[in-house]
Amino acid sequence: MAEQLLIFEKSREGRGCALMPPCDVPREEIPEVLRRKPAPRLPQVAEVDLSRHYTQLAKRTYGVNDGFYPLGSCTMKYNPKLGDQLAALPGFAGVHPLQPEHTVQGCLQVLAEAERALCEITGMDEMTFQPAAGAHGEYLGLLLMKAFHRSRGDTRRDKILIPDAAHGTNPATAAMGGMQVISIPSDKRGCVDLDALRAAAGEDTAGLMLTNPNTLGLFDENILEITKIVHDAGGLCYYDGANLNPIMGMVRPGDMGFDVIHLNLHKTFSPPHGGGGPGAGAVGCKALLVPFLPLYKAVAAGDGYAFSSPAQSVGSVRSFYGNFLVVVRALGYILTLGAEGIPQAARQAVLSANYLKNRLAQRYDMAHDGVCMHEFVITAARLKKETGVSAMDVAKGLLDQGIHPPTMYFPLIVEEALMVEPTETEARETLDAAAEAFFAVYDQAQTDPESLHRAPVTTPVRRPDEVAAARHPKLRYAFAQE
Ligand SMILES: *Cc1c(COP(=O)(O)O)cnc(C)c1O
Repeated sequence: MAEQLLIFEKSREGRGCALMPPCDVPREEIPEVLRRKPAPRLPQVAEVDLSRHYTQLAKRTYGVNDGFYPLGSCTMKYNPKLGDQLAALPGFAGVHPLQPEHTVQGCLQVLAEAERALCEITGMDEMTFQPAAGAHGEYLGLLLMKAFHRSRGDTRRDKILIPDAAHGTNPATAAMGGMQVISIPSDKRGCVDLDALRAAAGEDTAGLMLTNPNTLGLFDENILEITKIVHDAGGLCYYDGANLNPIMGMVRPGDMGFDVIHLNLHKTFSPPHGGGGPGAGAVGCKALLVPFLPLYKAVAAGDGYAFSSPAQSVGSVRSFYGNFLVVVRALGYILTLGAEGIPQAARQAVLSANYLKNRLAQRYDMAHDGVCMHEFVITAARLKKETGVSAMDVAKGLLDQGIHPPTMYFPLIVEEALMVEPTETEARETLDAAAEAFFAVYDQAQTDPESLHRAPVTTPVRRPDEVAAARHPKLRYAFAQE
């Protein structure tokens, strides 16, 4: 029998599992014109088959609870179970965003305390939790920079400087914000080319967006010089702090000259994201940008808290206060780790990445030598030349070794890139097992490269057409009678 993947294919007339209680309130008839003619084509499936269907699908996915998952850049880091317990507390989960302030004082306190803690960690003066994701936070940061220049009557500044080792969302955000993107090349060490930056900075510079550590996993050595060059030209400095895990509690972007920052609470500060839930792109800024922050900030008022909206606010970028339960989880994480645990997690993130980098360097070529931060980039260019096995083939081969592959073909400035972030929570045994899996694929490339072009052979889905899947997704079930 052909495998039935869709619940609609399992539907049989008359089966079902809904047990509706008898109606005990007066019936209100829906006017004839508003009633649908054909019955909705809901799948009719018995409870046991329904339950098995979704359990089988769930078993075919792979997540951080299944095993090692070393995606670089957009990594799911640590998802403590405690966070979900906190977010499920009725006082947090059961409130309505339009409730009067005096009935949700605890929620306002969570927002205010999370803001205070994260301002302390980043060196910023105030913070908003309204943006729903990292890229959304970048967009807000850009609006803040624009509002600042405009408030001073400075309307010539329409260019954003973005190093070529930035995360891809940085240039996309700047373009969406109506800015012209000026790409700044990296030097041989993978850091911002200072001469190119000096040449680009000028009277038309609205600001710089710096992903740090950059997508090569490197902390820019000249960071103080970078922010000085941009400030001297009258621009503002934006810090992409999506992955704050290697630096939190060690150094603060606010002390390095940055005016505005976004954090991905859903990466660094533990809430699950992607299939696991929504995100929060918290945006912090220095006092000069505070008047422009979005509506609804929780502030101390009298004995308690109230919502307040800054005078020259850029408005709302999302409804209400953002994804509140993500902030609850993040605050739980921060308070659990405390002032000692946060830098300890940062040291662990850097140690794990350098341990794995040094082990893998026994076979694979690294894009850059030396110490990395939370992630590092392999280049499979030589491997491909010698054996025909590409970064894609290595990634597919790793699936047969039972681990999730790293990020592929990113950053764009590295040929045949594989970007690896082990994260701060993996045990040494897990890192060693991962290194063995990488070695097994490398050795297979030497002895039987053909087999890697056919990998993976152990997964339910093998090599889908990724372009077609992205460009022409099938989002609708075609019923037989259509
Ligand atoms: C993940 C990431 C972003 C974008 O965050 P989203 O929540 O996916 O929008 C931006 N910058 C960096 C460096 C990232 O890793």
